[in-house]
Amino acid sequence: MTATATPVRRVDALVVGAGLSGLYMLHRFRGLGLDTVVLEAGSDIGGTWFWNRYPGARCDVESMEYSYSFSPELEQEWDWTEKYPTQPEILRYIHHVADRFGLHDGVRLGTRVASAHFRDADGRWTVTTEAGDRYDTEQLVMATGCLSTSKGPDVPGVERFAGRTFHTAHWPHEPVDFTGRRVAVIGTGSSGIQAIPLIAEQAADLTVFQRTANFSMPARNAPLSDEAQAQRKQGYREHRKAARESGFGIPVPEATRSALEVDPEERRAQYESVWGRNLVGMLTSYTDSITDRAANDTAAEFVREKIREIVDDPETAETLCPRDHPFGTKRPCLDTGYYATFNRETVHLVDLKKTPLTEITERGVRTSEAEYAVDDIVFATGFDAMTGSLAAVDIRGRAGLPLTDKWADGPVSHLGLQVAGFPNLYTITGPGSPSVLSNMMVSIEQHVDFVADTVAHAHARGDTVVESTEEAEQGWTDHVREVGDYTLYPQANSWYMGSNVPGKPRVFMAYIGGVGAYRAHCDQLAADGYPGFAFSAP
Ligand code: NAP
Repeated sequence: MTATATPVRRVDALVVGAGLSGLYMLHRFRGLGLDTVVLEAGSDIGGTWFWNRYPGARCDVESMEYSYSFSPELEQEWDWTEKYPTQPEILRYIHHVADRFGLHDGVRLGTRVASAHFRDADGRWTVTTEAGDRYDTEQLVMATGCLSTSKGPDVPGVERFAGRTFHTAHWPHEPVDFTGRRVAVIGTGSSGIQAIPLIAEQAADLTVFQRTANFSMPARNAPLSDEAQAQRKQGYREHRKAARESGFGIPVPEATRSALEVDPEERRAQYESVWGRNLVGMLTSYTDSITDRAANDTAAEFVREKIREIVDDPETAETLCPRDHPFGTKRPCLDTGYYATFNRETVHLVDLKKTPLTEITERGVRTSEAEYAVDDIVFATGFDAMTGSLAAVDIRGRAGLPLTDKWADGPVSHLGLQVAGFPNLYTITGPGSPSVLSNMMVSIEQHVDFVADTVAHAHARGDTVVESTEEAEQGWTDHVREVGDYTLYPQANSWYMGSNVPGKPRVFMAYIGGVGAYRAHCDQLAADGYPGFAFSAP
């Protein structure tokens, strides 16, 4: 008997991922009249905000900035409740957007993409899901997110542990109760720093395993008053414009002086004035905060002083003080009571720099010095960032070249959006774009708009294939590296550099030229007829 081959569904555009990028891409493609399908691995839409449900999960960009700007009506009708939105509130917002713009029927849930192969013969892609379903598409958009392929602790024994284990990026949907339990948290990035204070409130005993001390600032979260909300809504257009033209996608006053030009009291007053205001104020206070180590040290020392003020035990305070990387070169965190949590008698800190993690045992966590017996382990160990979710799919371009081969020494791209030899493939907020160094919403909308406009331009010319040239890709990749090298970012062992994943090439993967400059460059390319892109109709 011969097996019947799965019928191939032919579409105009296939989008992978139904998070904030994928949903807006669907909306824009539909606006162009393209038959579009979004494939989503999760059992619901929401992307990052579907998966990351750990206690305390919230965005540390303000809700009224971390939201779509493409529809003034949407902007006016949705009310946020807090300065910084919680994960459940963002998920409700995403559902509201999908309902409002009729997007649900374009999404196939529970569908993980296994491979995507370009066909040289007719310039289209064959996309296959893990379940074996096949699609034939002209456009292929990877809207898979920068931080969606989680990673574990890279030590043996996790499967041996007899208690419960959790990863912040795959948190259960039902509430997790830590009452009366001995808990270990491994990892002190943004996820760990948000979860630790809340877990500490419940647990009988909490041990935090810290490999790298991180810089964290108080979120000073608060309910959003009706007046504040109404006021922002009134000036929303100008505020959005300022965000789009800014460096990080969050409007802040432009720095005019070096941190080393001002006397220490004035500098301290400046840092005090931005402390707890937002994620970027400390980094944007001076022109050289992120380019000059001595200037950066003034901000770093200010944060260390704050830590010493908050934490009662001097030894614990010193362990919590980051020293091995310049301020901001690993993603800084916003917290609610993180450092004060270490004043609780039931909370202990283990410095993995002094006593490295060696294994997970049946009873708990072992370091080079001791075994810590616990009931639960929370892995807040982060992600294979930026390239992980692209490498997880078998993507092959012209002549069957795997994307992972092309990127063996680190990602190369044109604008972080296209890869030469991979026609009609777009990576939203991909490596080489401002993405993770920006308010993601600002970058997502700009990317999606640029992709939609580029496709519309091609179709208007009668073309179906758009491909970045090797020269444009090389030029952009060199530019990303040069701008990165001008800053302190390459000095840190960060996930921006790929350093958190053993064996990953050490390359600064984000573009630090600023979202405003990046947008202006993209707009200019469009106005000039897309130099660096080749259009054709096979
Ligand atoms: P992360 O920043 O990569 O932090 C992972 C933590 O686990 C780090 O402290 C890391 O130490 C530690 N770790 C990893 N492997 C380890 C090992 N083998 N042994 C010991 N420690 C290990 O991950 P994340 O906290 O999930 O955050 C990732 C990014 O997601 C953030 O930077 C942010 O961009 C985003 N995020 C945003 C929010 C928000 O908006 N509020 C919340 C959560 C996450 P090292 O530093 O030494 O590698």
